[in-house]
Amino acid sequence: MNPISAPRGTQDIVPPESADWNRLEAECRDIAHRFGYGEIRTPMFEATELFERGVGETTDIVEKEMYTFRDKADRSMTLRPELTAGTVRALLQHNLLAQGPQRLYYIGPFFRYERPQAGRYRQANQFGVECFGDAGAEADVEVIQIAARLIARYGIDDAVLHLNSVGDATCRPRYREALLAHFRPHLAELSDDSQRRLERNPLRILDSKDARDAPFVRDAPTFIDLLCEPCRAHFDALRGYLDGLEIAYVVNPRLVRGLDYYTRTVFEFTSAALGAQSTVCGGGRYDGLVAALGGPPTPGVGFGLGLERFLMMVRAVAGDRPPLRRGLQAIALGEGALARLVPIVSALRERWTQPTFADWQDRKLTAHFKVADRNAARWALILGDQELEANEFVLRDLDVRTDRRLPLASSAAEVARVVVEATT
Ligand code: ATP
Ligand code: MG
Repeated sequence: MNPISAPRGTQDIVPPESADWNRLEAECRDIAHRFGYGEIRTPMFEATELFERGVGETTDIVEKEMYTFRDKADRSMTLRPELTAGTVRALLQHNLLAQGPQRLYYIGPFFRYERPQAGRYRQANQFGVECFGDAGAEADVEVIQIAARLIARYGIDDAVLHLNSVGDATCRPRYREALLAHFRPHLAELSDDSQRRLERNPLRILDSKDARDAPFVRDAPTFIDLLCEPCRAHFDALRGYLDGLEIAYVVNPRLVRGLDYYTRTVFEFTSAALGAQSTVCGGGRYDGLVAALGGPPTPGVGFGLGLERFLMMVRAVAGDRPPLRRGLQAIALGEGALARLVPIVSALRERWTQPTFADWQDRKLTAHFKVADRNAARWALILGDQELEANEFVLRDLDVRTDRRLPLASSAAEVARVVVEATT
């Protein structure tokens, strides 16, 4: 029988790589908590209509990328392609906006039917934050800063923050007209997607990755010149705050985000380390979204950061450094030593925060050291017949390859205490 593989575009994450994921998720949580954001967890699937309304029917996501299926009761369901729509749905369902502003973060998988390649998967993971109820540029800065902190914490210094404003209901129609006037004469030369979208949503053409659209996108009018006064003031305030906090950015007038519900601020973090999929984090303000999903008009701003792409950047910065050694490999040579080692390992696992690895098989010492290397253990505790006789055990530092002989007390707890003391 042929073994079964994971679906295309999905990944298994196994040790030691999973440790990188654990650390990254812990850093995301730590930063979000420092900013006063609490975690929200929503279902992996929702009614299809939620994404049609909350992401937008002319987006790539809704037009091409959703995993939609009928359940046994013939309801149309979709595996979440992003996490903002579900977050808003939950806020409305539990009436949380009535309590005032909400600051939330999420970490979890999303699903998009895309052509798999480096940095582009069918199941991937996002860390995201959402701040609801605060219309001022202070909230935009707060959100941008969360992503910037994470990037700084990992020392990724080639990351660039791109910033733009896509206006609001007052000035966007003017910009729409300007774009229509610009693109219409070239309609036949545009990509199929752009031809289809021109009349419905010409802003989306700016976001096109199709080479046929590129020359016309390059010459398109910029929104910055057409912003209404309040949108301009918001953008200026945001820039002032970023300057004051010394967060570097470039204004990128071509930046529109893939989702329809953005208003005013849009931003992205990009990195050359990512190759073709250069965006690691995308976000912005979406003051119309909550109302579009049937809630009270409520401003919002947030971002989604792709964790797979983030780890690609981290690895590009760190290179192939050997893993940090930590913990202890417990090694018994012979049956008598094995019996003594079991309670010692148990005591270590109780007392010590570092991992205690034990491989209970009867192996030669060199084979045990290979296991220790695979575990990236820093220390080895070695117990054989000789040591039992002398009431000692050997503690080897696997980093510098030196041995110490330490007393083997009769109480396992005492041995554990000696080990912890000798290794700190
Ligand atoms: P792209 O332009 O690369 O398709 P997007 O605009 O569709 O990105 P968003 O919907 O803004 O992406 O999602 C936020 C982040 O999630 C992206 O910046 C990226 O890091 C990550 N992301 C999006 N799609 C994928 C995918 N298929 N695989 C892995 N990560 C992804
Ligand atoms: Mg996309």
